[in-house]
Amino acid sequence: MSEKWEQIESLIEKYPDLPPEAIFKEDLLTKGISFSEDALRVASGFKPKAYFIFSFDLVPIEEMKHRENLRAPEEICLVGGQRDFRRIIVSVRLNPNSPYQVAISDEGEPVLRLEEEEVAGVQFQKTPECYHRTLGNGKPIADIAPTIEWGYLLYLTVFRICQYFGSQQECQFCDINRNYRQQKKSGRPYTGVKTVEEIIEALEIINSTDSDSHAYTVTGGSITSKLNEKSEVDFYLQYPEAIEKRFPGRWIGKLVVQALAKEEVRRFRDVGVQIYHPNYEVWDRKLFEIICPGKEDYIGRDAWIQRILDAGDVFGPSQVIPNFVAGIEMARPFGFKTVSEAIESTSEGLNFFMSHGITPRFTTWCPEPLTVLGKQNPEGAPLEYHVQMLRTWRDTHEKYKLAPPSGYGRPGIGNAVFSVSAFMDVIRSGSCGSDSHDSPKIEMGKVGSENSGRKRES
Ligand code: SF4
Repeated sequence: MSEKWEQIESLIEKYPDLPPEAIFKEDLLTKGISFSEDALRVASGFKPKAYFIFSFDLVPIEEMKHRENLRAPEEICLVGGQRDFRRIIVSVRLNPNSPYQVAISDEGEPVLRLEEEEVAGVQFQKTPECYHRTLGNGKPIADIAPTIEWGYLLYLTVFRICQYFGSQQECQFCDINRNYRQQKKSGRPYTGVKTVEEIIEALEIINSTDSDSHAYTVTGGSITSKLNEKSEVDFYLQYPEAIEKRFPGRWIGKLVVQALAKEEVRRFRDVGVQIYHPNYEVWDRKLFEIICPGKEDYIGRDAWIQRILDAGDVFGPSQVIPNFVAGIEMARPFGFKTVSEAIESTSEGLNFFMSHGITPRFTTWCPEPLTVLGKQNPEGAPLEYHVQMLRTWRDTHEKYKLAPPSGYGRPGIGNAVFSVSAFMDVIRSGSCGSDSHDSPKIEMGKVGSENSGRKRES
């Protein structure tokens, strides 16, 4: 058995309370996936990777000799195979040098292999009908309103650039600006600033052709000055406002922007946004200052945390879901040197927020080569860290008896669709509220929050 297989097998044995599928998923998200030529040929007939915000690849496009950026799928579904996997959805992070490869078996079926040995069967998602359509101005739907999470989420990156610009201001794990440049250079239709009219036109098409999507996310880079003469709040507000006016309650409205002041957050709630993600990225104070220099300069860690708590008063704590990027706290040269130190730090953050009823979620760090941290840490964080993080998140979530995060669909192995980390896959059946299923009309807030009895303008 190779060293890599031994590592995986020993983690599966050491942590029998975790689904083995989730352990593979975390490794796939960190190491990326390669595709054989045959697999690319098959996959290119299914829903393609749309580059919905960042590159989420382990190599730049110019190093993709087989044009994987245009032919690989958005996500893969691992199922069955020799290990009898329960269904698990994994975001495709391209890496032609990965030990994992999607190939076509002798029986003609797509399979995932690790160093030539089969891990599981692979399914691709059918291309949604709307992906064959374009707007009146010729822009494809996959540019304006791509879907991820196996069709559950419409991802509306309305501003593909961040005004935290350059290595002194950009979050050190983020390639939004460099990815935008490489996509434009590659010739992909990739709109930098989407208009409200484009979004509504795309949603009209989706609404008439699609029944899989249950939520949308409005997001984009930070706006530190003005964009089209609008402040950050005024710029982002116009999208959910128009969506909710045209399609009231059709989807669960989610917003990923900076930590805003309470009165600004209220404006988003009042137009119909239901879930707010003020992403704090990394808990440790020193690392936050180093890794998120723009956020530290413009808002500051203490204000950021206070605003997350304040947002809980507005939306209800369960509807405030800040993201952290799991693994960046171990990035050289400033990160923690050991897994246990990293887990201890992030666990402190999880306990802090969850004790207030706020459930952070995480994205598994993808060490993109176009980022400061990715260049210095091409191997990412150790798999042992990711596995322990899954357990820590799950156990802390259970300790505070919190319901599964809203706006992610059904939780648990075999059900979950969230594809950029396995936190939804490890929620155990029978844990608080784990059997509930999101519908577009979700219960809002908790007793005592400002949210109760609110009136929507639209
Ligand atoms: S705020 Fe940070 S993570 Fe968000 S887009 Fe800008 S640089 Fe990237």
